[in-house]
Amino acid sequence: MSFLKKEFKKELDKPTYVYGTQTVELNTTIRKGEKHSFKFYPSRIWSSRINWRIAITCFFTVLLIQCAIITFLLHSYEKHQLVGLKEVGRSELISMITAQNQATSKKDFPVSRAEAERLFSSSKITGISIFASNLAHLQNHGQKTTLQLQDVASGEFKNNYLSPSGATYEVVLRPDDLNRPYIAILQFDTTYIKGDVFEYVQEAVLIILLVSLFVTIVIVVSVGNFLLSPVLFMRENLLRAIENPENPKVEDSPFATNNEIGESIDLATKLIKQNAENIRRIKSAAEDKIHKLAYYDTLTNLPNRTYFLQSMVKLGHGEDGKTMGRFCVVTIDLDHFKDINDTMGYNIGDAILRAVGKRLRSSLPESAIVARIAEDEFSVAMPLTKDVTDGREIGVRISNVIKSSPFKVFTEDFQVRASVGVSTFPDDGTDVEQVLKNSDIALNRAKEEGRDLVKEYSEDFDRAVQQRFQILRNLRDALEHDQLLLHYQPQIDLRDGRIIGAEALIRWWKPDGSKEGGSFIPPIEFIPIAEQSGLIVPIGEWVLKTACESAAIIQEKGYDMRIAVNVSGAQFYQSNLIGYVENTIADSGLKPSNLELEVTESVFMDDISHAITTLRNLHGLGLELAIDDFGTGYSSLSYLRQFPIDRLKIDQSFIRNALNNPDDASIARTIIRLGHSLNLKVIAEGVETYEQQAFLSEENCDEVQGYLYAKPMSFEDFDAFIEECKGYVPDVS
Ligand code: C2E
Ligand code: MG
Ligand code: MG
Repeated sequence: MSFLKKEFKKELDKPTYVYGTQTVELNTTIRKGEKHSFKFYPSRIWSSRINWRIAITCFFTVLLIQCAIITFLLHSYEKHQLVGLKEVGRSELISMITAQNQATSKKDFPVSRAEAERLFSSSKITGISIFASNLAHLQNHGQKTTLQLQDVASGEFKNNYLSPSGATYEVVLRPDDLNRPYIAILQFDTTYIKGDVFEYVQEAVLIILLVSLFVTIVIVVSVGNFLLSPVLFMRENLLRAIENPENPKVEDSPFATNNEIGESIDLATKLIKQNAENIRRIKSAAEDKIHKLAYYDTLTNLPNRTYFLQSMVKLGHGEDGKTMGRFCVVTIDLDHFKDINDTMGYNIGDAILRAVGKRLRSSLPESAIVARIAEDEFSVAMPLTKDVTDGREIGVRISNVIKSSPFKVFTEDFQVRASVGVSTFPDDGTDVEQVLKNSDIALNRAKEEGRDLVKEYSEDFDRAVQQRFQILRNLRDALEHDQLLLHYQPQIDLRDGRIIGAEALIRWWKPDGSKEGGSFIPPIEFIPIAEQSGLIVPIGEWVLKTACESAAIIQEKGYDMRIAVNVSGAQFYQSNLIGYVENTIADSGLKPSNLELEVTESVFMDDISHAITTLRNLHGLGLELAIDDFGTGYSSLSYLRQFPIDRLKIDQSFIRNALNNPDDASIARTIIRLGHSLNLKVIAEGVETYEQQAFLSEENCDEVQGYLYAKPMSFEDFDAFIEECKGYVPDVS
């Protein structure tokens, strides 16, 4: 599994990354089919958009600057030409005026017509106006000038004037300019300047374009080499990093790092490599963690069930991987671990589990695989060798390791024992799961046979398990098809022989196609299975309902008799027990005191405070409560005082042996006294002989039940039995 998943969608150009639940779109375009290997092709530089932008900007900037310079130069060229014209005109005029004056001595006409005509033909002068220094007009030759001397008089005197078309240019030469007492206005033909300028511009444009082109090329090539190439190189590396961030095929930078760009590329390359390294590290750490979570138990750090099964497969392949390995699987369940958890709390329970795991691991060889496969279940798989050929031997060793010394948790010592099941591969199956299951079946057998035992798997166990499944299936059918019925065994007051009631005992009539049509299956064969599967709950409800209805019929006949109903542990902890009992009594019309519920001691011990509450609630309904099979469990006398019970029922084993085993007689006696001291009635069950009856009578037992008086019978027979003996059994002294 990869935490960082890259998705390049072929049809899309944008690469996206999926990091956890976030999708990040990278704002980078990768052209379809583009191979990201960097080459310094000039074409790459020329095809770069940024390069074109730089080129265009550069070209026009240089062009603009040159145009500005040329414009300025043209202006000063024109000015320079005009100044030159004025100078030429001035010197020509001075020499003409001087010559004329010397020739004619006529100061009033400084320039002769002939002179003026010669001037016009030899120079660019096209018109002359001459004024005396008092502004009186003296002469006019050639073109009429535009400048008027009145302007000079009005103070708006202009020194020169260029016509808007640029065809003529006029200048005013004053007495200071001419060194004569005249003012002259000269007009020049300037059309030739335009031609010159045009020629000049034509040449300049060509030069400007060439210069712009040259500068652009120089800049583009420089930018391309010094800037764009490194940027393109960096882009290539980044694209590769995006394509495969974990293993980017980045090239080392060929650029010198003694400048900012080279340094940046070098840093970026290092960053990409660092990032890849980080991703690899995170990924590998995540994978390690996932592996640990998937294959190890977090409490004990031992392999879990999945890993254990995989390891078993490896062991099964043998050391050389060709021959089949032989190994044993030992499954260990800590006895009464639930009690430790319930009474001491989960902290202690967890600490014990950790300690057991540690002890198992350290006491077994390296070749053994030790795993925790369920809450308080450990499994060990260990290769069988020439020295150790028997899995049972290992099972016993493990059992001893656990109970060899108590486990110290905080300051307390806990003596832990375990039930152990052993199976062998390939003797008990070639499928590892099956072998593990078989060790579990063996373990269950060890638990059933009294715990703290080591049992090796046998096919018979399997058959027993199959049988249980079959019984469960049939029992479900029986419940649905009314094959269950109740028998009633009378209970008698020992003092006067009065029938005080009966115990309802379930019977399963199982049709089998035989001559008799079927047979009764004893409750001992199916009640424990029903209890384990939870089927006891609907069965118990049916028993209660049927017993109440029967008791109500007897009640209607005028007999005040009580029917005792057995309630098993699973029913006792059923959340709606109180409500169901209350409704059932009400529906049947039975007086609540004519119903008694029998519960065994072991049921209370699972959760004493809950037991007290439930018993109080049940008692609150007005019914009676009895402790069944009293003396076989391990009731605490202090709790017994808190239970709102009416009756102790001495277990039949004590009655059976009372006459030949003084211990049992003394237990029976003690129970009777204890019951009386707590103001409880005491009933003895399993009374079969007059001697037993005499013993109980002697000991002041209150009530009796047993084959001596009547065996359990159908309701009709019970009904007839009461009628027959008018509610009293004979021979009770
Ligand atoms: P239990 O409640 O202790 O019932 C007394 C058992 O002793 C009954 O066996 C009864 O037939 C037997 N018994 C009575 N008198 C004598 C006698 O003098 N000698 C001998 N040898 N046995 C005698 P049963 O009917 O086979 O029931 C066995 C157990 O199955 C019951 O023991 C009870 O724990 C359970 N059970 C029976 N019916 C129900 C039921 O409806 N619900 C639940 N939860 N358990 C039931
Ligand atoms: Mg009973
Ligand atoms: Mg009993």
